[in-house]
Amino acid sequence: MWPNGFLNITSRGRRSKPQVYLTFDDGPDPRFTPAILDTLAQHQIKASFFVLGEACAAHPALVRQIAEAGHDIGIHSYSHAHPWRLPEAQAREEMRRCYHTLADITGSPPRLFRPAYGRIRPATLQQASALQLRTVLWSCSVIDWGAWGTLSGVSRRLAAVKPGDIVLMHDARPDANRPQVTQTALQNFLLTDKAASLDFCGLSQLLTKPD
Ligand SMILES: [Zn+2]
Repeated sequence: MWPNGFLNITSRGRRSKPQVYLTFDDGPDPRFTPAILDTLAQHQIKASFFVLGEACAAHPALVRQIAEAGHDIGIHSYSHAHPWRLPEAQAREEMRRCYHTLADITGSPPRLFRPAYGRIRPATLQQASALQLRTVLWSCSVIDWGAWGTLSGVSRRLAAVKPGDIVLMHDARPDANRPQVTQTALQNFLLTDKAASLDFCGLSQLLTKPD
């Protein structure tokens, strides 16, 4: 089991350290994930991806590519169904199916879980704990979807990240082109002095090292 936190939920790291944890949800998506991987590789930084089981089943090679690049991969859900709108058994099945789909592709058990929409229900939290998953939310969202997901808006919010932040972004969305905005904003941000002063890490760095 994980050593700290009664509820096993993490939403940010320590403010006193320069680490920032970029996270990408809802992928993998062959239209957007490879470009984001390229950007991360150019800057030699690690991030975390919270994947959908059905996207993993459709694009297993892309999942392996994320893992081989040294990024952390956690489960999000199988189909991105809203956990609160499902019968409990179905909500548990969403997690179970995603867990096993990802484990079969990477060959190792997932260790990270982020519930779809950030909505937690006790049964799935308990299930996550039984599967030895650490539940991770976020402290900073770049809001890269909907009407607010413009390049200027996403760029401004990304520029405002603080040490310790777990940053919510997306490398796939059902509503089309937003991940392109995310990738462009990320590419621009990583060239700034502020980004150079931060240490971008995968969540395993936060969750496995004692403070
Ligand atoms: Zn999501």
